[in-house]
Amino acid sequence: MSTDVSEEDNLKQLEQRPPHAESADSVIARLGTSAETGLANAEACERLKQFGRNTLQTAESVRWHQVLMRQFTDVLIVILVVAGLVSLAVGETTDAIAIFAIVVLNGLLGFAQEWKAERSLAALRQMLAPRCRVIRDGDEKELDAELLVPGDIVQIETGDRVPADLRLIRCMNLKMDESALTGESEASGKAIETLDASTDLAERTNMVWTGTAAAGGRGLGIVVATGQNTEFGRIAELTETIDRDTTPLQQKLSVLGKQLGVAAIVISIIVAITGWWMGKPLMEMFFTAVSLAVAVVPEGLPAVVTLTLALGVREMVRRKALLRRLRAAEGLGAATVICTDKTGTLTQNQMTVQRIWLVAGEVDVTGVGYDPAGHFEASGRKFDYRQRNDLMTLLRSGLQCNHARLKKQSDGWQPIGEPTESAIVVAAHKAWIDPNEQAEPVNEFSFSSDRKRMTVVTREAGKSVAHTKGAPEVLLPRCTEIFDGDAVRPMTPQDHQNATAAIESMAGRGLRTLAIARREVCEGDDCDEERVESDLTLLGIVGMMDPPRVEVPEAIKLAGAAGIRVFMITGDSPVTASAIARQIGLDIDEAIVGSQLEAMDDEALTTALAGNVVFARTTPEHKLRIVKLLQAQGHIVGMTGDGVNDAPALKKADIGIAMGKRGTDVAKGAADIVLTDDNFSSIIGAVEEGRRQYDNIQKFVRYLLSSNTGEVVAIFLNILIGGPLLFLPVQILWMNLVTDGLTAVALGLEPAEKDTMHRPPRRPDESVLTKSGMAMIAALGTYVGLASLWLFHHYLDDADPKSIAIAQTVAFTGIIVVEKINVLNFRSLSAPIWTIGFWSNPWVLVAIASTISLQVAAVYVPAMQSILHTVPLSLADWGLIVVVSLPVFVLVECIKAIGWIVRPKGGEPG
Ligand code: ATP
Repeated sequence: MSTDVSEEDNLKQLEQRPPHAESADSVIARLGTSAETGLANAEACERLKQFGRNTLQTAESVRWHQVLMRQFTDVLIVILVVAGLVSLAVGETTDAIAIFAIVVLNGLLGFAQEWKAERSLAALRQMLAPRCRVIRDGDEKELDAELLVPGDIVQIETGDRVPADLRLIRCMNLKMDESALTGESEASGKAIETLDASTDLAERTNMVWTGTAAAGGRGLGIVVATGQNTEFGRIAELTETIDRDTTPLQQKLSVLGKQLGVAAIVISIIVAITGWWMGKPLMEMFFTAVSLAVAVVPEGLPAVVTLTLALGVREMVRRKALLRRLRAAEGLGAATVICTDKTGTLTQNQMTVQRIWLVAGEVDVTGVGYDPAGHFEASGRKFDYRQRNDLMTLLRSGLQCNHARLKKQSDGWQPIGEPTESAIVVAAHKAWIDPNEQAEPVNEFSFSSDRKRMTVVTREAGKSVAHTKGAPEVLLPRCTEIFDGDAVRPMTPQDHQNATAAIESMAGRGLRTLAIARREVCEGDDCDEERVESDLTLLGIVGMMDPPRVEVPEAIKLAGAAGIRVFMITGDSPVTASAIARQIGLDIDEAIVGSQLEAMDDEALTTALAGNVVFARTTPEHKLRIVKLLQAQGHIVGMTGDGVNDAPALKKADIGIAMGKRGTDVAKGAADIVLTDDNFSSIIGAVEEGRRQYDNIQKFVRYLLSSNTGEVVAIFLNILIGGPLLFLPVQILWMNLVTDGLTAVALGLEPAEKDTMHRPPRRPDESVLTKSGMAMIAALGTYVGLASLWLFHHYLDDADPKSIAIAQTVAFTGIIVVEKINVLNFRSLSAPIWTIGFWSNPWVLVAIASTISLQVAAVYVPAMQSILHTVPLSLADWGLIVVVSLPVFVLVECIKAIGWIVRPKGGEPG
């Protein structure tokens, strides 16, 4: 293979002779490749060095300094800086330095949290990177689209997103959705003929462009431009990214934060003016006001929420769900309905042909999986398949109308391609039919869930022959003749009845059925879909087993316990669907097929949706209608999909779920999450994870607010009773910014509670702070405030002006200790600690231990003493602090224990 393709030469040549104006052979020759064997691996590596990776510059890769700057743009930070400057102006240099130091420390902590969040999202972006199918070194393989180089030969099939600009060299009914590039919504047909150099971009039918998607058919193209050199790279910046738009919860929290901010400023101004008017020194009132403002606002909250969500994304990956939008986790937590397809999601997608109906009678096929060991039996007896022309003709047509292949690898036989098609290939192998002897296809009408059939036209002995396979209900009405092994004869009503009875009996056993047919076509007609796919000759019906996934029945049970309804919406037959539904433990009263669904008005369908139904022989439009109706009833709907036409339903659903293995690029692009193992139970796992995250966010929001309430209560009551300054602004900053954030992050790591999947989904419109939540915050906040106020006044001695220092230190240390003990109350909002296990979240214990250690340092390390205005405490002081703090935990535990014992099972936590 030639290696003399220099980047400059190549680009120059491309400019002079655009590939659409060059014949396919000439492009192949110029780029030193071959349509059959592709580039050699070594050559591809060389070119990768020359041309660079096939990536577009990402529009939103966040830089570290932007994240750092974000930490210092908060209004509160501005107020603090002003406070620091005022301190400086009035000569309180240490205070000023302390305030600035804490502002910086807070910024660094916030930065560390957000940067960690950014990094984990960036790592995930990598996992969403697109892949493509290329031919290299004579082998067909899957490759990271990033590694494509000019000269690579790429295959494109329905639903694939194009990974680079390609000049087509083979094309079968290929239709492209180019709306991403040209804005044209109608799919455009493609061909390989050379065009005039001046042809407009939208009219270059022999080219397909990066970022566009195949709406039908298939094609083979040669890469002519990668990365920024592609048309898309020139006009736009496109990247596979995790959509970070704020989740509804984040929006609600930011509104709450703003409201608290406004309240803080108003309260502070009123208190400061009143105090000053009552004769207190202006400076003291200024600092009190700043303290109050700092105390009201939970500063660490946004960073903690972001970090929790980002860490949650990683947890979702462990559960085999890749989030494409952060908001999906929240949606999953509130999901009330999951609509799932059957094949591959509920079943293993490991198909084996078990039975074949032919005019002469039924044939059983032995063997399991993709290992082609097995034979054919009739009435329990093995027979010589070579004697059965009917069987061989059916298998040959099944093999012709097929894209799958079998490959023997060290770990056994592996299918390449779709399982339905692979199963037919395996059956043909069992009859020793050589796949290399297949005729060259000249045209194809691809499979889609809408058409439910597929046809390949070949040239055999000078004639055009169409080989068709598809859902029996779709194909049988198109058959007018039948093949009995000797001759083709007209199909009689009796033949029809026999075939239908065989289909019903196979489907009743849970087998997936497929009819196979063929016909000869006149050469001029082989492009006319309708003509080719009518007047067919039925060859027989194939029944294949696709066993349910073993873990699915358990997941269905769990969904039921969690109050989530599961609807199976499949393209398969109603009988097969019902049989599988029963096997996995779904209660089914009725199977509704696509045509029935179309005849129903919205009211009738809504009534049907209230019952136990499965939907069979559906098309993607039916899915869309079902989502809309369920949403109209207030449901939060999760919907799975894999096909190119599933995109609208995936977008419409609250949580669009695409299949990572089986799904097309188009479906993945439209979805909110991508399942890496295509497994239904992963959806239920992700729901549990979504619920855990939401619960934990609620836990630390309440915790942070109860701490802040405690500080406000203490400061406010102290002013009312005329006490001297309780906390200095730096002390409040220290407790809010330095110590609380750590604890809140630890609460975010709390494992899921035992009842997480045994309670109904939360209401989507539920506010972040429910009434019981507010009561909890008020009660516990009051305790925290009163405890520290009591400690302050207990140590305050009017006769000794020096006592204020020790009183402030005890109150300051006391409020931190009581807040840390209070954290334990929020590990579960309803369950006593013995039910969740004291050690089950070691992070909380680490956070408590490190915060208390920091406070010990604050009290005993001289440098910190001067910054935080503390004095050393005696052991007795610490003892008193602990005695005052412990009841906050003991009391709440007692209340929870009583609630836990009397609570009906499955109730919602407070
Ligand atoms: P689900 O919707 O649960 O994934 P499904 O795979 O059966 O189930 P579709 O992919 O829409 O749904 O397929 C519908 C029907 O089309 C199948 O039951 C089968 O009879 C037929 N079919 C499936 N794959 C092919 C194929 N590659 N070629 C021809 N017909 C097919």
